[in-house]
Amino acid sequence: MSDKDDLALCLRMLEHQGIIDFNGHASIRCDAGMLINVGSSQRSRLTAEDICTIDLDGTLIEGRGKPPLEFHLHAGIYRDRPDVQAVVHAHPQWSTYLTMTGHGYRPVFAQGTLLHPVDTLDTPDSINSPEMSARLNAVLRDRPAALMKSHGAVAVGADIVEAFVLITYLEENARRQYMAQQIGTPYVFTDAEIAAAQAKLRNPGLFRRTWDHFAAKLEDAA
Ligand SMILES: [Zn+2]
Repeated sequence: MSDKDDLALCLRMLEHQGIIDFNGHASIRCDAGMLINVGSSQRSRLTAEDICTIDLDGTLIEGRGKPPLEFHLHAGIYRDRPDVQAVVHAHPQWSTYLTMTGHGYRPVFAQGTLLHPVDTLDTPDSINSPEMSARLNAVLRDRPAALMKSHGAVAVGADIVEAFVLITYLEENARRQYMAQQIGTPYVFTDAEIAAAQAKLRNPGLFRRTWDHFAAKLEDAA
C-alpha cells in the first residue's frame, strides 16, 4: 500500500470509530512537505484521491482540493520535531469532555500509559496560524500527544500506524477515565506500573496488530 492509501485507511478507521467526524485530519511527512487529506473530503469514504501534497507553508503541490485550515498544526510539528513522521488531529468526544471540565488525563488502563503525561492547550482556538502552532508545540513538547481545551487532541508517531494507534489509545483511556469517574475515583497507574506498561506496549509489532484489528473491523462492516 502507498502512503496515500495508508493515510486514507487511517482516516476511514478513525471515522468508523467516531474519533473523527466531518472534521479531522491526518498527515504523513514527505520530501515536499506532507501528504494530508483535503479539507472538504468525505471522511467515511476517503480514498487516495482525497489526499493532497502540500509544502510546510500550505502551498498545494499536487492533488484535488485544498488542505484543511488547520494544516499549520501539522506543519509546525514537522518543523519542530524531526522524529515525527505522521500526525493525527481529531475532535474526539471523551478526551474533549475531560478538557472541558478541567480534568487532567490520568493513565487508567495499560495502553493509555503510552500517552502519559499529556498536557492541555489552554484555548479552544483553531490551530490556523504559525502563532497558534507554536503555542500547541509548547504544550506537546517532545511527547506523543497533547489535548486542546474544548477542541480536541493531537497524536504523533514515527509512522502513520503509530500516530493512529496512539490517538485510539488516548481516546479509549479518556472514555474509561470518564466512565469510572461517574461511579467513583478511578485507580491511576503508579509510576512503576506506568514504566512497566510502557516498556511492554511501546512496540511497533503491537501497534501493527492494533491497526490490523481496526482495519479488519472496518472491512467486516463494509
Ligand atoms: Zn481542530
